[in-house]
Amino acid sequence: MTSILDARERINGTLDAEVDKCEGSTTPASVDRPRIERAVREILLAVGENPDREGLRETPARVARMYAELFGGLHQDPRRHLRKFFTEPCDEVVLVRDISFNSMCEHHMLPFMGVAHVAYLPGERVIGLSKLARVVEEVARRPQVQERMTEQIANLLVEELHAKGVGVVIEAVHTCMTIRGVRKPGSVCVTSAMKGCFRTKSSTRAELMTLIYGERR
Ligand SMILES: [Zn+2]
Repeated sequence: MTSILDARERINGTLDAEVDKCEGSTTPASVDRPRIERAVREILLAVGENPDREGLRETPARVARMYAELFGGLHQDPRRHLRKFFTEPCDEVVLVRDISFNSMCEHHMLPFMGVAHVAYLPGERVIGLSKLARVVEEVARRPQVQERMTEQIANLLVEELHAKGVGVVIEAVHTCMTIRGVRKPGSVCVTSAMKGCFRTKSSTRAELMTLIYGERR
């Protein structure tokens, strides 16, 4: 039997609820917010703004809180989610599709956002489906490039779950490509990382692609 969970509502709903619950208290101690505030004030001055005018007075503090949130993943270890596995005989692909995420392009410090599809063929270890979304969330919340993010998620699953195969596909819109530079709105960057049987067996990989895209394209 194949398990698919259309993750968008169910998992992100849960994550959002948890973020709301701890908003204001989750700022990791290791993000130096006063330092960010000083830097943002410098940027405002450098572009020719007056950081003391009314509309900008709170901006450095606001941006510092935002960066503490957006880069919070730097101070979290996503492995801890994967260590709460259970042992369950399962010989079919498990896929969580459409896990939405936001990340920050480390080249331009501009956001990129999209969805991750995360699949594995279990060995003995099976993980709660929401844990896959948590791993995506924490890997995304740091300065990133999409290619590395895709690899990191796949490698975490290989290492912690000893899965027979892992497949991760990420589709994202990069604002550094849509609002600046080449300015190509609508362009979507797709990356994939295939490990184990998803790499070696084309029929298993084809099954995964049908699960992800079959009904949609
Ligand atoms: Zn960029």
